[in-house]
Amino acid sequence: MGNSADKIKPEVRALRAYTLSPDRARVKINQNENPWDAPARIKAETLRRLEARRWSRYPDFTAASLHARLAEFSGWQTKGIVAGNGSNELIQALLMVTVGPGKRVLICEPTFALYRQITTVLGGEVISLPLTLELSYDTDALQRTVRDLQPDVTIVCSPNNPTGCVLDGRDIRALLESTNGLLVIDEAYHEFAEHSVVTLLPDHENLIVLRTFSKAMALAALRVGYLLAVPGLATEVSKAVLPYNLNAVSQTAAEVAVEMYEDELRPLVRKIITERERLYRELSTIKSLTPVPSLANFIIVKSAIDPKQVFAELLKRNILIRDVSGHPMLSDYFRLSVGTPEENDLLLSALREICG
Ligand SMILES: *Cc1c(COP(=O)(O)O)cnc(C)c1O
Repeated sequence: MGNSADKIKPEVRALRAYTLSPDRARVKINQNENPWDAPARIKAETLRRLEARRWSRYPDFTAASLHARLAEFSGWQTKGIVAGNGSNELIQALLMVTVGPGKRVLICEPTFALYRQITTVLGGEVISLPLTLELSYDTDALQRTVRDLQPDVTIVCSPNNPTGCVLDGRDIRALLESTNGLLVIDEAYHEFAEHSVVTLLPDHENLIVLRTFSKAMALAALRVGYLLAVPGLATEVSKAVLPYNLNAVSQTAAEVAVEMYEDELRPLVRKIITERERLYRELSTIKSLTPVPSLANFIIVKSAIDPKQVFAELLKRNILIRDVSGHPMLSDYFRLSVGTPEENDLLLSALREICG
């Protein structure tokens, strides 16, 4: 009898599974979530609408009323929007309809691990460009590689997870104009950079934008994301999405969150940005630490002390950060999400003790 894993594609077997340490702590700053809960008014209105709805009936085949809300919210047309069960589902759907053997996907690493993982599972080839030594986008190399290699898909995460660097609008426009390949901009953290490339959609048929409700929108538990592109592309991507992919609870909560964004969520985003800047300044004063500038709701920090040791020492003090030392170029770094002001104070005093 053979090994049942023999039937698995060799490129898949060579991958390490995407996992997360199961540790729990009072100060949880390992997943870039909104440190505050979803505001009470959003929860209450969601529950009120759910109460009034028949639970015995399927949700919309595609989330039509959410799509309409997202169109107003983002300033893009309803037909060019696909909502998903987390934006991760849409990354998968998008790659399913574009990638197979012989197809090339360009990414800049270190970045979000899922792009490489799904491309590999689908039998595509990953072309990887390193970030600069300062951990920012190497814009010249990126332009040159896109122009010369014409990858089928290029994925840029901006602000980038886990480094926080951004690719600016001018560079994105230049990339779009130098290729017929698709350019995917993952805007999971755009609220914290106060910048979006959605305004480039009308003039660029090869642009795809991904967004999520898991970070600024404070709904990570409910799994909602959306994709924006020209209607023709959105229709093609939706062929790889299962019917009823979004359950009625998540659909309703996302609609309410969009309706109440300005009053309930934007103030929290502003506080997180203020705290990010404070955290950066304070971290810079700790002797063995060098924070990297970030436009997201997290910061990576270069540490003269082994980051795994910093991780363990913080966990002893009930603070959970992200160990990113396994990423290329990041063996000396750890990542922390911006917490509430109180959480950030706890973190800073712990780090002064451990690293000061
Ligand atoms: C958190 C994150 C997402 C969000 O994924 P969801 O499936 O919507 O929770 C997407 N892209 C990046 C780079 C992220 O860090």
